[in-house]
Amino acid sequence: MKPHQYWCIGRNFSDHAVELGNPIPEKPLIFLKSGGCLQPGPELSFPFFCGEVHHELEIVLLLGNNLYPSHWTLGLDLTERKIQSELKQMGQPWELSKSFKGAVALGAWQTIKNLDELADLEFTLKINGVIKQQGFVSHMTFSFDRLIQYLYDRFPIAPGDALFTGTPAGVGPLKSKDRLEASAGPLQVQWTIK
Ligand code: ZN
Repeated sequence: MKPHQYWCIGRNFSDHAVELGNPIPEKPLIFLKSGGCLQPGPELSFPFFCGEVHHELEIVLLLGNNLYPSHWTLGLDLTERKIQSELKQMGQPWELSKSFKGAVALGAWQTIKNLDELADLEFTLKINGVIKQQGFVSHMTFSFDRLIQYLYDRFPIAPGDALFTGTPAGVGPLKSKDRLEASAGPLQVQWTIK
C-alpha cells in the first residue's frame, strides 16, 4: 500500500516542540509531504543538496473507507533541518526540507480494528544500539481522533492518504552507516543509512 499523500502534524509532542525552541501549539500544525516521497528501504539515501537530514520517528495512520484509519505503521518524517531552519527564518514554506525525494520511509502496515488498540502504544527508535527517541501515543497534544476531525473539517483528506502524527523529542542528524531500529508493540522496522 502506497499512500497518496502524507498529512503531517508538527509539534504534537510538547517535549519535541521545546527542544527545537518552538511554542507548544494551541491547534494542530499541518504540513504536506508528497506521496512520491516514499523510498523503499531498508537502505536509505538522500538527494545531493541534503546536508543534515534528521530522523523523526512517528506513528503513521493510513485512512481507509469512511476516513477511519485502517492501518498503522512506524515511519520516518525525514527532515533537512538546516534548510528547514533557513526557510522558517525567512517565513517561507517548508517543502524543500520536508518533501524532497526520499523524505519518507515506512515500516510494514498493521491492521487496525479499533483506534483504542493504539492508545497505550509506546514507540522507540534506536540508532547504533542507543535509544534516541521514545514516545507514547498517550502523550500527544492532539489525539488521533482530534487530528482526523481537524483535518476532515479543513482539508480534502481521502481514503489512501496517510497521517504522520508527530515526533517525540530526541530528533537528530543521520550519518552514513547508521543502523536504525524502530519498534512499537509487535512491529519492528530496521533501516540503514547509505
Ligand atoms: Zn514530523
